[in-house]
Amino acid sequence: MWTLTLRQLARPLCQRSPVRLIARGQHAATRSVEDERGAWTGQESLAEDDPEMWKLLQKEKDRQCRGLELIASENFCSRAALEAQGSCLNNKYSEGYPGKRYYGGAEMVDQIELLCQRRALETFNLDPAKWGVNVQPYSGSPANFAVYTAVLNPHDRIMGLDLPDGGHLTHGYMSDVKRISATSIYFESMPYKLNPSTGIIDYEQLEMTAKLFRPRLIIAGTSAYARLIDYARIKKLCTDIKAYMLADMAHISGLVAASAIPSPFDHADIVTSTTHKSLRGARAGLIFYRKGVRSVDKKGKETLYDLEDRVNFAVFPSLQGGPHNHAIAGVAVALRQAQAPMFKEYIDQVLKNSKAMATALLSKGYTLVSGGTDNHLVLVDLRPKGIDGARAERVLELVSITANKNTCPGDKSALTPGGLRLGAPALTSRQFKEADFVQVVEFMDEGFKIALDVKKKTGKLQDFKNFLLEDPETVGRIAELRQHVEAFARPFPMPGFHDH
Ligand SMILES: *Cc1c(COP(=O)(O)O)cnc(C)c1O
Repeated sequence: MWTLTLRQLARPLCQRSPVRLIARGQHAATRSVEDERGAWTGQESLAEDDPEMWKLLQKEKDRQCRGLELIASENFCSRAALEAQGSCLNNKYSEGYPGKRYYGGAEMVDQIELLCQRRALETFNLDPAKWGVNVQPYSGSPANFAVYTAVLNPHDRIMGLDLPDGGHLTHGYMSDVKRISATSIYFESMPYKLNPSTGIIDYEQLEMTAKLFRPRLIIAGTSAYARLIDYARIKKLCTDIKAYMLADMAHISGLVAASAIPSPFDHADIVTSTTHKSLRGARAGLIFYRKGVRSVDKKGKETLYDLEDRVNFAVFPSLQGGPHNHAIAGVAVALRQAQAPMFKEYIDQVLKNSKAMATALLSKGYTLVSGGTDNHLVLVDLRPKGIDGARAERVLELVSITANKNTCPGDKSALTPGGLRLGAPALTSRQFKEADFVQVVEFMDEGFKIALDVKKKTGKLQDFKNFLLEDPETVGRIAELRQHVEAFARPFPMPGFHDH
């Protein structure tokens, strides 16, 4: 192996023409890496080394550039953060925490993790005496499970917003017949709901239920909710029943970083987040925990938080192994960006664009759950228009507009729910302004009309989907609309990569 390496290193790096290799890539599936072992150095580009995968990535880049990305949880990460994420840090094992690792060679990753921690606290204006952060969770879901592992015993009770009402799976989702999320398998979860007539969280019902159910943890956080959360009210409830309050700001952490909406840090004991949604970083998760005094009793005796050790122990060694140092570096880069004035401008524009989208939809007669938006997303209730989210999603997909179906209050089916969730963060990263979002709504409106026309002529969902691909007139309408959408989308700049 060693001699082979020397021989490989002696060869000029770019000896082989990438063009020739791409052409050869047509046979990539049958070509064996063995054939070329003598020449392989590990310095080959992806196009050279694996043309089959390279081509798929080119196609995905193209899809991202020519389409309108409205999935509310998605964003376009910067090239700088992607560079850190796709770096040599991928190679390093460093179980443990800075200064206390189970592996040698951790000098640099220690500095990287400490830098990420410092920036995470700075980004949310947190005093390091009062808050600490763990930057090792692999993503948002593991971050939440680490919090449960830290503060709950098996089968302890928790409450979170129900999934069909805009909560996240990890907040304890179970269906009528099955415990779905591991959170509901290992803990006893009771959901709270939206008020179906207003589309706003039913805080009264939450308070009543919590006083009967006595959960040890209440989660305030959403994946498909267009309004602000009353953190103060949930904190008061938590104090009354001596529960921990977890704020899961996965969707809105970019908005919080820019101080554009109320901060969960004013009230919560623990805050979790993803880093790749409105925060626009590399893909990972964060857990912030309070330090210092938790409560003072009548005699003035202080109880201190013990979350720091619990959270850190839960992440490693209880749940995870080696931290993803490459992701931590990519998050650190994005956190620095999130502190800059340009990020505040970005988030202000996200909110303006979201409002512009809501207003344009309302003016075209669409119904919005809760009637509007205070954040980065809108939830359209398509039922009054006679279509559903699944059919709308499919037509939009065919015209290069990506969004996702979503349940609305009162929905029976999760496969054909009545709503569609639309978010502004991704397209705002491509410099879309309010007028552009009005145009996006025009395109969607055309798509919804196709969906309605086809629904009238077809039966079940599969029948509808087949018809979209088979009926000549519909195929023509879709092709024309897609052409307009792509001609509109493509010229906008794309962060992260520039070869489109
Ligand atoms: C997206 C999301 C998560 C989970 O994040 P993943 O990175 O997908 O695991 C958790 N909570 C909320 C509220 C989310 O929206």
